[in-house]
Amino acid sequence: MPIESINPASGKLIRRFEPLTAEVLEQKIALADEAFRAYRQVPLEHRAMCMRKMAALLEGEVEELARTMTLEMGKPLEAARQEALKCVACCRYYADHAAEMLASIAIATEARESFVRWEPMGIILAVMPWNFPFWQVVRFLAPALMAGNVGLLKHAPNVPQCALAIESLVRRAGFPRGAFQSLLIEVEQTELVLADERIAAVTLTGSEAAGSAVASVAGKYIKKSVLELGGSDPFIVMPSANLDEAVEIAVRARCVNNGQSCIAAKRFLIADEIYDDFERRFVAGMEAMRVGDPMREDTDIGPLATSRILERLEEQVRAAVAAGARVLTGGERMVGDGFYFEPTVLADLPRTAPVYREEFFGPVALLFRVHNIDEAIAVANDTPFGLGASVWTKDEAQQHRLISELQAGAVFVNVMVASDPRLPFGGVKRSGYGRELSSAGMREFLQAKTVVIA
Ligand code: NAP
Repeated sequence: MPIESINPASGKLIRRFEPLTAEVLEQKIALADEAFRAYRQVPLEHRAMCMRKMAALLEGEVEELARTMTLEMGKPLEAARQEALKCVACCRYYADHAAEMLASIAIATEARESFVRWEPMGIILAVMPWNFPFWQVVRFLAPALMAGNVGLLKHAPNVPQCALAIESLVRRAGFPRGAFQSLLIEVEQTELVLADERIAAVTLTGSEAAGSAVASVAGKYIKKSVLELGGSDPFIVMPSANLDEAVEIAVRARCVNNGQSCIAAKRFLIADEIYDDFERRFVAGMEAMRVGDPMREDTDIGPLATSRILERLEEQVRAAVAAGARVLTGGERMVGDGFYFEPTVLADLPRTAPVYREEFFGPVALLFRVHNIDEAIAVANDTPFGLGASVWTKDEAQQHRLISELQAGAVFVNVMVASDPRLPFGGVKRSGYGRELSSAGMREFLQAKTVVIA
């Protein structure tokens, strides 16, 4: 895909960027390599000071940065502001907690002294998607920089201005030249970068196809990889749940980020006793969503990020209907400029349909009736993915079963799934491996060096 900013609300090209030449790419890798050798010696207090400065810059520039996000990928402006503020919190969290995360761990043995010391790995390549164009990058970058690593970013080709804005923030925060660079490169060049012996490891957030391709290259060159891939998260509502709250959050959880979030609730598994009530209220909630220009303050759902995503979602809905799904509302792209799709609810998609096993990346909800907790768990786990699960029940025995039996990286009870710098984030099955955020995220790109002193 060409590297270009296209406003998804209008379909108009804003700016095109040329990919880096081989020569410039080499210079950037060499600079990162040089930067790492010096940066790993920089005292933690200095790294923390730069990280706090970055938080302050982000906070001061929220409005401008949010506009860049909305312009390039179409999320509602207020959601973009919240994304920038979440990045601020993440930077401050790692500035405050890196010292304890990086402290050596003493382990008693027969030796006089033995301990584990944490060391940075080197240059980490980040391959990132466009859906949270700041958050995805900062949640990798803040722990990486605090740990003494340096970063190179291959961002999605439709958010180059976001990529460059993040690079500028890091530079202005006082991190050394080369500590973080955005590479405006194409997919073929990404493989060359990863193969380069100066690159230590890779983290990728994106689709299964991208994860598989990048992890194959990493495996070939024996490099660590972390994969944060797609999801088809279940949202389970049992009879004891607070239905008012469950319906309200269900709509929000499906429509967050114009429906383009890996941890958006995508499959709604509703107990038989409350199904009809839930369906009626949920459909009304989806129909009440205001779809429109994401720059307007009263817009709930903006356009999909690219024409390709719109076409893919349209094809998936057609395939679902052809397989027997009933359209309760929506189901079509919207007429006019921009990449808009109607908030859509589909019921009774047969689980044997190939499209059932896919991720719907847009405001399309799949409703299923389940007869008891066993069936809810079986349907929830009947997916290749395993990112998050939101479960609604006041029954403690059911809560325990759901927590222990759902195949997911996270289970949120009576609340929507969300990422949080303090909590590990990641998936199981085809949703990927490894964790981001918290100390677990920082550890992914640290070497545990064992030291024994006799
Ligand atoms: P994508 O097409 O996989 O792209 C993600 C990134 O990977 C882009 O920078 C893309 O660049 C790059 N890429 C794709 N194929 C590649 C290859 N063969 N080699 C190297 N790089 C490659 O994903 P997307 O459609 O933009 O993003 C949506 C997906 O991300 C969804 O599946 C969503 O669930 C997932 N996601 C997961 C998480 C999580 O934390 N688990 C968070 C957000 C999103 P090009 O576009 O240039 O190919």
